[in-house]
Amino acid sequence: SPVTTDMRTLIKEVEKFAKNRKKEIETLKIREDYRKEFMGNVSHELKTPLFTVQGYLLTLLDGAMKDKKILKKYLERANKGVERLIYIVKDLDMITKLEVGDLNLNYTNFDIVELIQSVFDLYEMKAAKKKIILTFDMHYQEPIMVHADKERIQQVLSNLVVNSIKYGKEDGTTEVSIEDLVKSKVIVRVTDNGEGIAQSHIPRLFERFYRVDKSGSRKEGGSGLGLAIVKHIIEAHHERIYVESDYRVGSEFSFTLEKVKKFPVVDLGTETV
Ligand code: ADP
Repeated sequence: SPVTTDMRTLIKEVEKFAKNRKKEIETLKIREDYRKEFMGNVSHELKTPLFTVQGYLLTLLDGAMKDKKILKKYLERANKGVERLIYIVKDLDMITKLEVGDLNLNYTNFDIVELIQSVFDLYEMKAAKKKIILTFDMHYQEPIMVHADKERIQQVLSNLVVNSIKYGKEDGTTEVSIEDLVKSKVIVRVTDNGEGIAQSHIPRLFERFYRVDKSGSRKEGGSGLGLAIVKHIIEAHHERIYVESDYRVGSEFSFTLEKVKKFPVVDLGTETV
């Protein structure tokens, strides 16, 4: 009868509604867990340098500052801790902006060869301290013009080069190379012969705060956000990032960029010549 049909439709509607609500609640729960985990990670990252700074300051207040030499030494160390805090907060700020989609990319045409050289200049000293040689392998000595956000790509390169130094071995090498593809892309590779990453860690490597060796990596500085930032920046450009690594052999991180067309398309318009 029409009444039972109506009842059936109603029951189906209610069931559908309940199912959707359940899904919504599950999504909210996942988000809430995610948020809690994020906050937990953030406070954990901040705690270590904060306690370090406090430790030095308390020791000084306890009387150690009477010794001028110790005073200077401890203040310098406390300042290092503050620098680290600033660095972490900057990374947090960046990842939040990237995840909220709040970061407008400022596209320009620039020479990627020159940018790589400028990143090398920044980190040559850091590499030298570990006797790591930075090499730039290029078949062409000419500029290679790409279309991207220069500042953000500099950050990507910096994070990858710094990692290759941090996780590189003494007397090792970091090599950056560019492959100029025939089509509209180039591939930039950052390769090291350092400690490498075991396969089991690779899938989670780009997650924020993920670290292979928790205590070891933290000792090396950094926020655990470097690779997450790198991935977001590359994806915001609609480009791709890859990693290949072998434990105790080395790692290679590579990403693509859009080349600037060599021959600009000339619009002749509709006028006939
Ligand atoms: P971190 O601040 O810990 O360096 P990242 O997000 O930059 O954070 O890197 C995440 C983890 O990936 C590191 O803790 C390290 O274990 C691993 N890793 C990154 N780059 C390399 C590399 N070139 N060689 C070996 N391990 C690496």
